[in-house]
Amino acid sequence: MYNNFTKLDRKVETIKNISNIEKRAKELKDLINYHNYRYYVLDSPEISDAEYDELVRELIEIEEIHPELVTPDSPTQRVGAPPAEGFLPVHHRTKMLSLSDAFSFDELSAFLDRIEKGLPGEEINYVCELKVDGTATSLTYENGLLVTGATRGDGKVGEEVTPNIKTIRSIPLKLRMKAPPSSMEVRGEAFFSIEQFEEINKERSKKDESLFANPRNAAAGSLRQLDPSITARRELDSIFYSTGYISDRSFKTHWDVLQFLKESGFKISKYAKRIEIRDEIFKFCEEWQKKRDTLPYEIDGIVIKVNSLEQQEKLGATSKSPRWAIAYKFPAEQKTTKVLDITVSVGRTGALTPVAILEPVKVAGSTVGRATLHNEDEMRRKDIRIGDWVIIQKAGDVIPEVVAPISSKRTGDEKIYKIPDYCPVCGAEAIRPPGEVVKRCTNISCPAQRFEHILHWMSRGAMDIAGGPATVGQLLKNEMIEDIADLYFLTKENLLNVEHFQEKSAENFYNSIDNSKKRPFSRVLFGLGIRHVGSHVSDVLAKNFPSMEELKNTSFDDLIAINEIGPAVAESVVKFFKQERNLKVVEKLKRAGLNMQEVVEGGAPKKLEGLTFVLTGTLSQFTRQEAEDKVKALGGRPSSSVSKKTDYLVAGENPGSKLDKAKDLGVKIIDEEGFAELIGE
Ligand code: NAD
Repeated sequence: MYNNFTKLDRKVETIKNISNIEKRAKELKDLINYHNYRYYVLDSPEISDAEYDELVRELIEIEEIHPELVTPDSPTQRVGAPPAEGFLPVHHRTKMLSLSDAFSFDELSAFLDRIEKGLPGEEINYVCELKVDGTATSLTYENGLLVTGATRGDGKVGEEVTPNIKTIRSIPLKLRMKAPPSSMEVRGEAFFSIEQFEEINKERSKKDESLFANPRNAAAGSLRQLDPSITARRELDSIFYSTGYISDRSFKTHWDVLQFLKESGFKISKYAKRIEIRDEIFKFCEEWQKKRDTLPYEIDGIVIKVNSLEQQEKLGATSKSPRWAIAYKFPAEQKTTKVLDITVSVGRTGALTPVAILEPVKVAGSTVGRATLHNEDEMRRKDIRIGDWVIIQKAGDVIPEVVAPISSKRTGDEKIYKIPDYCPVCGAEAIRPPGEVVKRCTNISCPAQRFEHILHWMSRGAMDIAGGPATVGQLLKNEMIEDIADLYFLTKENLLNVEHFQEKSAENFYNSIDNSKKRPFSRVLFGLGIRHVGSHVSDVLAKNFPSMEELKNTSFDDLIAINEIGPAVAESVVKFFKQERNLKVVEKLKRAGLNMQEVVEGGAPKKLEGLTFVLTGTLSQFTRQEAEDKVKALGGRPSSSVSKKTDYLVAGENPGSKLDKAKDLGVKIIDEEGFAELIGE
């Protein structure tokens, strides 16, 4: 997890002076950006939505009191994340915004007051819709045919996922109307039913792949697949709720838009409701909060929108969200269950973490049988005992939390659990260093630590090697590896000797390991699992010490001289490179060909930097992919649709409708010869 300098109970009021506030704002920005990356790019969050929302709220609070600290790159000013590598960018014609949140009826009330103040004396109607927990999608239709499907991305530029979108059966490839608009964009949500979500995770668990945290991450992860056959195997569904750009049509109300979408062949929510009386909005929210469990898919709240499009326009939008809509978020779902036992799990740094074994109970769509109790102090503070009835909650992530015991249900038979003084896996002494909250196993060769360390090395944020606990367990059991570097000396033949592997899976695993050699130096550093060195700190280290040699020979003083490196990180880095065992692993990784230095960008001139290209028709010297790769290699951006922002349209033989569009918009058109000249071939 990201270097853990946050505990959410730090409030703005406790921060006494501006330099501290500035520092905290910077910390929060870095932390939120890190979690945005895990959530939006890797589709693999590390903290619950509730924890994330609290970080954002703290930053908003600081920025409200100190507007001078609002920077354009602040996560409070931005939507989502820019497109990930491997996808073509799609420029949204009008920005795809997020929604602002109301976490209580008071906040919802304040939103309605703001609306009434912004539209004095006007009659205001609303539309309330269920907030389906999926991932936002944008579809472009030209003359009634689906031409592009995209994700929201950072709101301005999304990722092109057309082949994946086409696998969603509820999305019409052709609009159901006689005279469709020549161009139209619709927006909605791609999502999984709870049943499908559980099915996918079951399959992933069988294949030893990491599980999706929730249906939302599963939907985003499935839509953002480079291989559409994977998307096709998972049955995504869709619901649409708005139009973006649309030619030859205009609407008066949001409700009219919904009816138009329905008539065009899209699924819209059958539960959307027009509301004229303010109190009814609260009733709608309350009713669905109670009934959410009856739906076959997850909803995380209610979206309340001003119905009149003219009024929407008057109210406008901030850079992140419209002022005429809000998402009322339901509180995390809570359930009651019994603590059957408490055990400890041993982590990659030897930390002994208490875990509650629960009587299985269904919460927020999935069955929960375990919950982390974090550490001894936390367990004592909450006073959780074996045999207790407890309240547990799940807020958008797999790992549920034990909120509190129900003391009134105690019989006197409950037992206080003490973290053992010995590692339950290897039997070595476990000690709690002064000033720390965690007891650790002292044996660096502890099998549990080794197991977790290898899993960490293979995780998505580090080397991203396709394999999970069962694979690692088998390799360790068969004594084929002892440490992370040994992975690189496995052969396909070796793997086939392990029962766990078949011809195909051995080949995939081997290729995935080989592929991981391309990961940048900063991710190698992250993968090493140095204590306190999370993904962000690895980036900072790689920037300041661009090679392993330099980092290895650095001193504590040099390290703490760096802005974002504190004494705990500095001490841990120096200590890591003092241990003979670690140096051997690093040396082996070097021999295996992993990146031991930061690659400096910008060696070759990037002559197409900032330019956007669209290709149409057939080229004779290049395939479409080759031409796009050349554009990318020279710093340019290939795109699949023509817009005003397109710099060049490259027209090959038999160009399509993109040529006409480029002419209409006055985009510069070049033929293949012109393109070859431009790229210097
Ligand atoms: P959001 O999901 O809260 O709300 C905006 C989105 O709601 C829209 O983009 C759209 O996709 C969706 N939506 C569903 N039904 C809709 C309807 N009827 N009308 C309009 N929109 C509808 O905002 P976001 O910016 O996508 O994401 C923020 C959320 O993601 C927060 O809940 C946050 O907790 C979570 N998040 C979590 C982490 C983490 O690490 N756990 C990190 C980043 C974000």
